[in-house]
Amino acid sequence: MCAKLLRVNHVPKDFREPFIVSGYRSCRSSFSACIRSAFSLNNETFNFWTHFASFVYFTWLFTQWLWYEFRFDVDPFTYPLQVYLASVSLYMLVSSIAHLFNCMSERAHHICFFMDYSAISIYSLSCCIMYNVYVFPKSWINSTFHTVYIPCSVINSLLCTSLGCVARFVNWKALRVSAFAVKYLFCSFPLLYRCIFCEDDDCQDPNAIQFHVYQFILCAVTVAVYATHFPEVLAPGKFDVFGHSHQFFHILSGIANYCQLQGNILDMQYRRDYLLSVSPMPTFANTAGVALFALIINIAIIGIFTGMIWKKQHLRRVKSRQGILTIDWENSNNNAFKNGKVH
Ligand SMILES: [Zn+2]
Repeated sequence: MCAKLLRVNHVPKDFREPFIVSGYRSCRSSFSACIRSAFSLNNETFNFWTHFASFVYFTWLFTQWLWYEFRFDVDPFTYPLQVYLASVSLYMLVSSIAHLFNCMSERAHHICFFMDYSAISIYSLSCCIMYNVYVFPKSWINSTFHTVYIPCSVINSLLCTSLGCVARFVNWKALRVSAFAVKYLFCSFPLLYRCIFCEDDDCQDPNAIQFHVYQFILCAVTVAVYATHFPEVLAPGKFDVFGHSHQFFHILSGIANYCQLQGNILDMQYRRDYLLSVSPMPTFANTAGVALFALIINIAIIGIFTGMIWKKQHLRRVKSRQGILTIDWENSNNNAFKNGKVH
């Protein structure tokens, strides 16, 4: 049997999505109700499936097709590509889980999205690890910027996760978006430079550059869709279940990942001899090792913020019991959506 769906004024503020009026699941759903919700229509159904389908596809690419195509088991030059594929699969899986289980409780809601930010942060670090080896402009290889690129990317990645989590506490979405935007621009800067200037015959393989350019265009469109909440901003309530911006955000980012992958595979193949003549062969330590190190720190960051959520909600409950604070979100936020104050 399908669980009853709620309207926006019947869910807490943290659970509300801008311009989505109905189709909300109960914010006290059980584990089994969350699983069942993937197979019934609500405003998270396609958010879950769009990323889960991409997760299956990229995992298949990694473990089946590309594994044998590029001899992943014996060629260390493919380590950065493997780290990238593993992190794409990870972030898509974590995102699917977050979208499916975030309605179990207010606490679960925050923890799911802490995990989501952390997985995106690891994914963006893996892009830097891959770019560091395959796509740097010839004139930048072994430069000071190239030397500090990965250490700065690791710091950036940890800052992104931390700021993403902080933004949930202060309900400041712009902080989260800016942190990830800065990370993306820093990471993409060498590739962007190469695509624009093509110095020293650095665009010998036009197909690779084409895929890189597609990726940048798709990313720009993806960010625009995410930031503007198009199309639901034009007709609140009409795209609650199917066709809202978050679904397009998932689909477009999946296609952008595919273009990013193709561009890097072509660079890996056609620039291999040149790259190995000027830089050492990648090792497990400076590719997967860096990603694993960042993953461990990310898990620690999630642990710290989860502890803070636990404490905050415990305090709220104590105050509520003492009559100092009453949580009456249904009434206090009743008119927030109508007044455009929903974040
Ligand atoms: Zn999502």
